[in-house]
Amino acid sequence: MKVVDTPQKMRKLAEFLRRDDAPLGLVPTMGALHEGHKSLIARATSECGAVVVSIFVNPAQFAAGEDYDTYPRTFEADLETCREMGAACAYAPKASSMYPGGYDTWVDVPGLGAPLCGSHRAGHFRGVATVVLKLFSACLPHRAYFGEKDYQQLVLLRRMTHDLDLGVEIVPCPIIREEDGIALSSRNAYLSAEERLRARAISVALFDAKKTVAAGERFSVAIIQSCLDKLKKAGSRVDYVEIVDPATLERVETINGAARMAVAAYIGETRLIDNILLEPRDEA
Ligand code: AMP
Repeated sequence: MKVVDTPQKMRKLAEFLRRDDAPLGLVPTMGALHEGHKSLIARATSECGAVVVSIFVNPAQFAAGEDYDTYPRTFEADLETCREMGAACAYAPKASSMYPGGYDTWVDVPGLGAPLCGSHRAGHFRGVATVVLKLFSACLPHRAYFGEKDYQQLVLLRRMTHDLDLGVEIVPCPIIREEDGIALSSRNAYLSAEERLRARAISVALFDAKKTVAAGERFSVAIIQSCLDKLKKAGSRVDYVEIVDPATLERVETINGAARMAVAAYIGETRLIDNILLEPRDEA
């Protein structure tokens, strides 16, 4: 497996790896790889001729006061994971080679970037869209694999890829959860044992909502209130609980078709996000 640390070297290697008869896959990550990331890499290696895993904690998507400095970094173990899983290349650029002095170009997807996490993390999605475009430009993938865990990110990147005619197929991958339901996240490493137990409330509330909707509840306000009550009981500070259209991310008041319920909540100092598909009972 090659380990590459600049966009220029990555582009050279990508030109060699990219072939017409077998797709080149990209799995963008910020490292601290866990089973969620591994599911993306496994899917990519099963579907592509060669796979690049990028490992880059992108400073542009962290606002001042967020956890850029303390974000878990396990680089050597991540390389080993990529190697074991059959990646052709780990692309791990330094921040200084991604954003050298004078860097001044940004990608904005203002509509899809505004709601949900966008209204709580200033500049976050501008940083995400920009880095993913730069990763596409260096890695030249045919396909890129993203988790539904970051649902807003997935929808927004699909929009960017379409709007800018990037010719990359965005492949959504399901959320991988621990046995007790909690969605795997690199940030779970911040949780104490007691917080880890309280964090279960997030996925429990989401799965309860899914059941409630499947049983016939249609009114978002009731479902959201029940979720807020459960999170409050777990001592969680909530950024948002919303039910949105899966494509436009606009709020849905009455659930008449598939919808996405999304949560961002703090357990202690750790901000966690999770989401779930809601499907109303078929009354036809
Ligand atoms: P991150 O390293 O957190 O930026 O995540 C890199 C990619 O892995 C993103 O596409 C995430 O959505 C995806 N991912 C993270 N956690 C999970 C999970 N629990 N299940 C599925 N995909 C995940």
